[in-house]
Amino acid sequence: MTRLSDAGEFEVIRRMLAAAPAGGPGVVLGPGDDAALLRPVPGEDLAVTTDAFVEGRHWRPGWIEGEALGARLAEANLSDLAAMAARPRWALLSGGLRGDHPLADLESFQRGLAGALAAHGAAVVGGNLTAVEGAEWWSLTLIGGVSEGRAFRRAGARPGDALVVSGRPGRAGAGLRLAIALGERAREEAFAPLLAAWRAPRARVSLALALAGTHAVGAAVDLSDGFAGDLAHLCEAGAVGAEVELERWPADEALTHAAGVLGVTAEALRMGPSDDYELLLAIAPAGLPACMEAAGREGLPLAVVGRFTDRPGALEALAPDGSRRPLGGAGWDHFAGR
Ligand SMILES: [Mg+2]
Repeated sequence: MTRLSDAGEFEVIRRMLAAAPAGGPGVVLGPGDDAALLRPVPGEDLAVTTDAFVEGRHWRPGWIEGEALGARLAEANLSDLAAMAARPRWALLSGGLRGDHPLADLESFQRGLAGALAAHGAAVVGGNLTAVEGAEWWSLTLIGGVSEGRAFRRAGARPGDALVVSGRPGRAGAGLRLAIALGERAREEAFAPLLAAWRAPRARVSLALALAGTHAVGAAVDLSDGFAGDLAHLCEAGAVGAEVELERWPADEALTHAAGVLGVTAEALRMGPSDDYELLLAIAPAGLPACMEAAGREGLPLAVVGRFTDRPGALEALAPDGSRRPLGGAGWDHFAGR
């Protein structure tokens, strides 16, 4: 087995580029010079985001590695561009790797990363590798384009807007918790959708672009910390509150089953820390039909799970009898570690 220390830096870079050729639309000059040259589309703003993954914290050997890790890093960044309704274009990759890292694993990583980006028309245009002694890490910076003034933002939700979410929030966090709690037993069939949501998320880029076409989205955020935490971000940015109708939430048998096994409530899984990379949206009632139709064309479900209120900062659960209580579940805080 060839390791990075056997191959040397320049052979490693050559092999990575061979695994997934760089370049694409708007790339005047790709990897190989001192900097890449990119040509933005006239009339577009650039949306730029970056995400870092650290070994032991963002991935677990045996569960997420190689191709799946590369794809997951790409999806985390793609999701941030989806939250802005930007079209992904160019990526810069940096990594800190140990000399004993197998070269073939790096090629798999690159294939996963480049494949996930290419699915949305984006490509790696440059990068940098460095040697580390301890934990390995990756950092991806992704640049996208969005027509001037058309980007979704966190600010913009208004009282009365529908609170809308894509997919099945909570599944990714449930998958991670099952892997920690059960080890190999988490691989059983009943948990497969939850493990998949955690290990192989799919950023909602095409859904976001379709929704942007309706001009009906007032505010958006992607679910990278968890439903309650990211909802709090939307409410803070818009100086509004939100009430969630738990009864209206679409049924999720796999999640309910996992909650029983983990000894927690389904609500705790849905509201708590979970990097689902789904979209959380504020949509004025008049714009809902157009958004539902656009999502239907994309084959992705949108669910109305509540509404925004004129009680800034208040996140509440609304019962069918009209009673309210504070919404459970906080988002993930990297420094607080909870
Ligand atoms: Mg985000």
